[in-house]
Amino acid sequence: MAISTAPTAEILDSTILQDVVDGNLRLTSEQAMCLYHEMPLPELGRWADKRCRTLHGDFIRTYIVDRNINYTNICTAKCTFCAFRRDGHEDDAYTLNYDVLLQKVQEIVDIGGTQILMQGGMNPELPLEWYIDLLQLLGEKFPQVHVHAFSPPEIIEFVHFFNTPGNSLEEQIRWVLTKLQEAGLKSIPGGGGEIFAHAVREKIGLGKCNAEVWLTVMRIAHELGMNTSATMMFGHIEGIADRIHHMDLVRTWQDRSIEDFGLNGGGRYKAFISWPFQPDNSPLGRVKEWNTSEAEPFPGDVVAKLDGTGVKSEHPEFGRRICLAGSSSYLRTQAISRLFLDNIYSIGSSWVTMGPAIGQTALFYGANDLGSVMLEENVVSAAGTTWCLNEAKLCHMIRGAGFTPAKRDNKYDLLQIHDGENAPDKMVTDWSSQEQGALIAHTSSNNTACNNSVPLTINQ
Ligand code: SF4
Repeated sequence: MAISTAPTAEILDSTILQDVVDGNLRLTSEQAMCLYHEMPLPELGRWADKRCRTLHGDFIRTYIVDRNINYTNICTAKCTFCAFRRDGHEDDAYTLNYDVLLQKVQEIVDIGGTQILMQGGMNPELPLEWYIDLLQLLGEKFPQVHVHAFSPPEIIEFVHFFNTPGNSLEEQIRWVLTKLQEAGLKSIPGGGGEIFAHAVREKIGLGKCNAEVWLTVMRIAHELGMNTSATMMFGHIEGIADRIHHMDLVRTWQDRSIEDFGLNGGGRYKAFISWPFQPDNSPLGRVKEWNTSEAEPFPGDVVAKLDGTGVKSEHPEFGRRICLAGSSSYLRTQAISRLFLDNIYSIGSSWVTMGPAIGQTALFYGANDLGSVMLEENVVSAAGTTWCLNEAKLCHMIRGAGFTPAKRDNKYDLLQIHDGENAPDKMVTDWSSQEQGALIAHTSSNNTACNNSVPLTINQ
């Protein structure tokens, strides 16, 4: 991969950007910053779209049918952006039992699902055997279902909770991951990435592993042959340079995994998904919002450094003001991720937080994938924003954007290309019964289900 030596501002030149699109030039962090701040949004979208088309072609855009299962909301961490966590003694604290978990998996299998995404709080009461038995049970009952579960912060808490053998943290991580993999774990989701820069992370991710440990968990997963994803939650106290730095770490560690394990059946980051912070019901959401018309620069931007070395003492208001990301900031950030992350296959649109309209627009800003249908969601919905869409609506969104929808699996292999008349969206005769779900309201049986009337709706 060629490293750009062009001066930063020249990245605005179309001939240089064409090299990025063609995969002949890698953006520097400074160039990414320049693009973020200087390039008009539609133009930035066009370049990200070109890069996306180079990688994924002009015709097909994908989605997966899986189910997001949050098996417990009891958590030892106290992330300030989180409205989901509970202490074990709280009335609405929960841990789902195996019967409920198996029922949830059955429901997604019944509608053609191929994967479950299982993440929880970090619950110190659950022993290793609870996870091993669950994974084995899932493998016995649903051998066709891919288990994508346990983000790096959970893995690190497992290391602490289980009195894990090993002479170093790496050995302990490898021991835990090997046990889980042997029991049936197939891949690791990128939860808990948030923003990697230390100054931000120590303010918002109380009790959660730092960036290096997060990245190390993923590296060991890659070494063991498991694929992973990477995520970023932005639009709070961080500066724009923190977002670029976050992407830079993902890109750098991906290079290492590909180089070290790529020829030996190793895994890698298959996807990058970013979304804006959802403020409702969380401590961070009560922090005063920065008025963007203020002449002073946002404290997060004063502190943020492209190399991640920003320190909170550089601005007295750092961490005491948030700058929420609207649609334009979201689309800019996603477009930059598509251009910057030249070694990541998929960029996912975040319609769950942004809503279907922006989620569809994101397909023109570098995203090739709409993620999953949503039967239930508990984490961001606790923070006030979740949209629920079924398979027909996802296909409708993709087709409406001018592409052919295709159902994929966890490896991004295509399972069904919906180019015929029996496509899920083509079978719908009355779209009035297919309105996207309203915001989440349901909390009975310790989960949250989509409050809509489409066939996927359950547990209402
Ligand atoms: S975001 Fe996850 S780790 Fe942080 S408090 Fe919430 S449930 Fe716990």
